[in-house]
Amino acid sequence: MTRSFHVGQPFDTPDIDITTALEDVSIPTLLLSLVHITGDPSYIRDFTQAGLFLNEVQGFMSEADKARARAAALPVIADYRDRGCPVPDPLPSELVEEMLDWAACEPVDPDNMALMLEELDLEGADPRRPTALQVADDFSVIVIGCGESGVLAGVRLTQAGIPFTIVEKNAGPGGTWWENSYPGARVDVANHFYCFSFEPSNHWDHFFAEQPELRQYFREVVDRHGLEPHIRWNTEVLSATWQDERWHVTVRTAGGTQTLTANAVITAVGQLNRPQIPEFPGAQTFAGPAFHSAKWDHSVDVTGQRVALIGAGASGFQIAPAIADKVAHLTVFQRTAQWMFPNPMYHDRVPEGARWAMQHLPFYGRWYRFLLLWPGADKGLDAARVDPDYPDQGNAVSEINALARIMFTDWITTQVGDDPELLAKVLPDYPATGKRTLQDNGSWLSTLKRDNVDLIRTPIERITPTGIVTSDGVEHKVDIIVYATGFRATDVLFPMTVTGRDGTDLHARWGSRPFAYRGITVPGFPNFFMTYGPGTHLAHGGSLIMNSELQMRYINKCLEHLITAGLRSMEPLPEPTAAWHARSQEAIRKTVWAHPSVKHSYFKNADGEIHTVSPWRLSEYRSAIDEPLFSDYQEA
Ligand code: NAP
Repeated sequence: MTRSFHVGQPFDTPDIDITTALEDVSIPTLLLSLVHITGDPSYIRDFTQAGLFLNEVQGFMSEADKARARAAALPVIADYRDRGCPVPDPLPSELVEEMLDWAACEPVDPDNMALMLEELDLEGADPRRPTALQVADDFSVIVIGCGESGVLAGVRLTQAGIPFTIVEKNAGPGGTWWENSYPGARVDVANHFYCFSFEPSNHWDHFFAEQPELRQYFREVVDRHGLEPHIRWNTEVLSATWQDERWHVTVRTAGGTQTLTANAVITAVGQLNRPQIPEFPGAQTFAGPAFHSAKWDHSVDVTGQRVALIGAGASGFQIAPAIADKVAHLTVFQRTAQWMFPNPMYHDRVPEGARWAMQHLPFYGRWYRFLLLWPGADKGLDAARVDPDYPDQGNAVSEINALARIMFTDWITTQVGDDPELLAKVLPDYPATGKRTLQDNGSWLSTLKRDNVDLIRTPIERITPTGIVTSDGVEHKVDIIVYATGFRATDVLFPMTVTGRDGTDLHARWGSRPFAYRGITVPGFPNFFMTYGPGTHLAHGGSLIMNSELQMRYINKCLEHLITAGLRSMEPLPEPTAAWHARSQEAIRKTVWAHPSVKHSYFKNADGEIHTVSPWRLSEYRSAIDEPLFSDYQEA
């Protein structure tokens, strides 16, 4: 076996430093690595993890057992070092499955087993890598967008040998992570999992990386895979039109507009990209700086200023703690209170010892990835699906959802229970996880308790040159307004014009109900493939990067089919598309996100319907898009 990054780099670390490092590591992950080093399953069989596995990287072990694990590890690791850190022999598949069950603290069902093994990739074989093809010179693909899914598309098309151009409106890669540079911006999906499966994931400074580190990550992936020559920066797509069996993509650059052509188009524009600013009366009259969180104006110094922060979703939630100690006064306007998931590690740096383990202990990083993925895989969906027999549907949609509500309520109450007025403002009045649940280490509520911070729940009526007037007639005087008011998430592919076969306009076809066959293709739009299309937003867990990898594998297989079968075009048939959409809609209506008490959320369109979110388990969706069913397609 060659040495993939999964195995870790050889080391000559002295015992004393290994002992110190072991204080920082995840003990379950360490024990799994010891099984690889020794081939001896007793390292998991002799240590029982008890209890529900949640986001607890140290596992459910007694302190005495953890100390026993560290003591057992030192001689094994020292011996491995002294043997020159050889690549461990592959483990029997039954043992790997036993290790997965042990790490998950429960039997991993067969569907998830396949997904988890693929994601773990213990062989270092990159199982989602596409087949390399012989492609005619005149076949090409245009990828729209160079965020995570556009970068991924570039990597996979390169590996397949398919000529392509990526068109990106920004000056560099990363999409969201290029644009959102507001103070406090960081990912709230654990980073050692929120990264490509085929790239090393052992380098992160923080468990939840800050924006500059993520932006740098995408730059490095672009460079490592030689994508730069294929990318046109500062180039925005205005329209895409299917004509004469090719896509004609009109782009705008500093020099004017231009039309590019290709056999196929892949959209990689994300769902959370186009800022949404509510039209408050008088907004234009405001005399000071005003900007959206995704377009932070770094020329404006907030120090000593009175700042209004409108919106308290994931962005506002990060901005307030990051600026509260600099501003003279912060007024937070929160329309809806948010549920928060307690996560003490949210702002933590990865300790040195844990980094050492990620970089050197065989498969440590892979198992750590699994421990992060597993609790977010389907557990969130279990808590989101409606149990029709649960009696108290007003407060919760199921028993497990009710338990989440109790846990989250406790988390809020222990922090602000001494301030009944604030408690009443911050306790949500809808079931837990009904909107996107935020990661929290206590920084949000401690910010709201500061003397120079006010939380306003009274609706905004209008904006004046000097402040914001709420419906109680009070004017809140401010110098700067920050709109952390989210994105046009339900307007899929906004503001592009997409015209398919017979002149059909995609947005006219969709109306307010975007749909796609398995979230990727649309009847009447030949050779048009979407990543992160309708019905694929992950509200319950997992990582969009993983979803993109699964979708891109599907798209590669479709392109391979087009090329090897010598087809001009393929598009899904209306019936299977309608059947997929109907099934998805039926499932989504039975989730907490559709609960009537959730008045506003970026999952719901103006009619209160949900068309952008996936109701499927990660493993269900993987099965649905593992292999294209070409009988569901019309080919020409
Ligand atoms: P968001 O979750 O849609 O939140 C928008 C906020 O603005 C909400 O508080 C919303 O109130 C408020 N708002 C919108 N229109 C309003 C109006 N007319 N009047 C008053 N308030 C209004 O947007 P976001 O915070 O930018 O986050 C969007 C998504 O981006 C996140 O959920 C996440 O998926 C992603 N994101 C991720 C990270 C991360 O990974 N750390 C960071 C930022 C964003 P209501 O709640 O009442 O609608």
